[in-house]
Amino acid sequence: MSTSARVRADACPGVFATHDAADGPLARIRLPGGAISAAQFRALADAADDLGDGALHLTSRGNVQLRGVTRPGLAGRLVAAGLLPSPSHERVRNILASPLSETAQKLARELDEALCAVPELAELPGRFLFAFDGGQGDVAGEGADVCWRDGAVLLAGEDTGLRVTAGQAVETLLAVARAFLRTRGTAWRIGELADVEPLLSGIPGETTEPRRFEVNPGLPIGPIGDAIGVAPVFGRLTSAQARAIAKAGNAVVTPWRSILVLGPLAPDTGLITDPDAPSLGISACIGQPGCAKSLADVRADAARVGRAPRAHFAGCERRCGKPAREHVDVLATGDGYLVDGAYVPVGELARTLAEKGTQ
Ligand code: SF4
Repeated sequence: MSTSARVRADACPGVFATHDAADGPLARIRLPGGAISAAQFRALADAADDLGDGALHLTSRGNVQLRGVTRPGLAGRLVAAGLLPSPSHERVRNILASPLSETAQKLARELDEALCAVPELAELPGRFLFAFDGGQGDVAGEGADVCWRDGAVLLAGEDTGLRVTAGQAVETLLAVARAFLRTRGTAWRIGELADVEPLLSGIPGETTEPRRFEVNPGLPIGPIGDAIGVAPVFGRLTSAQARAIAKAGNAVVTPWRSILVLGPLAPDTGLITDPDAPSLGISACIGQPGCAKSLADVRADAARVGRAPRAHFAGCERRCGKPAREHVDVLATGDGYLVDGAYVPVGELARTLAEKGTQ
């Protein structure tokens, strides 16, 4: 693991500490486990319309961002909707959970409650990520700092050999987080530590030979029993689409910029429901004009590409929102793109990415 450590201040945005983007203040609202009730979805849709740019922007950690929040009153609305249970901990409630696993979802709720009850854990870096994988191998592939995968404890994506039951999982992950806080120095992520052994010291459980787990795709798109997996194009969910989901029932926002809708969704929402839709594999940062750092309107360029392998378009080297998993890197240069480091003019992007998909 890398020993490099960052010395910049933790700039992860939240509700109180917004990010100052070119299109106005950006607020990030954490959804532990991605779980969101119909009423909460409605509250976010209203907030997006009344205070922001009229859309909910899904993140690669299963959270929601509101952009262009130029009018006041967001925090009060979120508190009323139950989306801001602990103002002091709002930026550390970073918890993934397998959307289709009741056990993982339940553990995410329990961890959230326990996390918010420990004042010192409000000091965790805003990038620190917890995950509960019900054994599907879906969120275990998302690079969490500490992940419980159906009994196995993973640190920075690697199996430690420690095995704990579901009943011990929450306390185990909290113990790791506490130990990280004590020993992290200037590191933001467990993957930046030279030695992770001390993080497990004294934690009860069985130990076995660490193994390499398979990582599986995220939420399927399309019908899943009585539910349905849907995706908004580039993770931008209009307020009307959010209300359509709320009308169908509760939901789970996933780290793959998709949503598990737990009820019958009306047709013709404009959400992607076809698992073969060409744009499903492509993600893109906000780009121009929303971000002053962007060298291109990356979403417009990405939309013209059509079918592509899993690819992420970024307007600058920060590569905001890039997937944790393997993908083709598409980086704006100002007069074209670097595709996995090789220059490609805009007009050649579609062909280059199509070729990547067949390799
Ligand atoms: S990757 Fe760069 S251009 Fe894109 S949103 Fe982030 S900072 Fe802006």
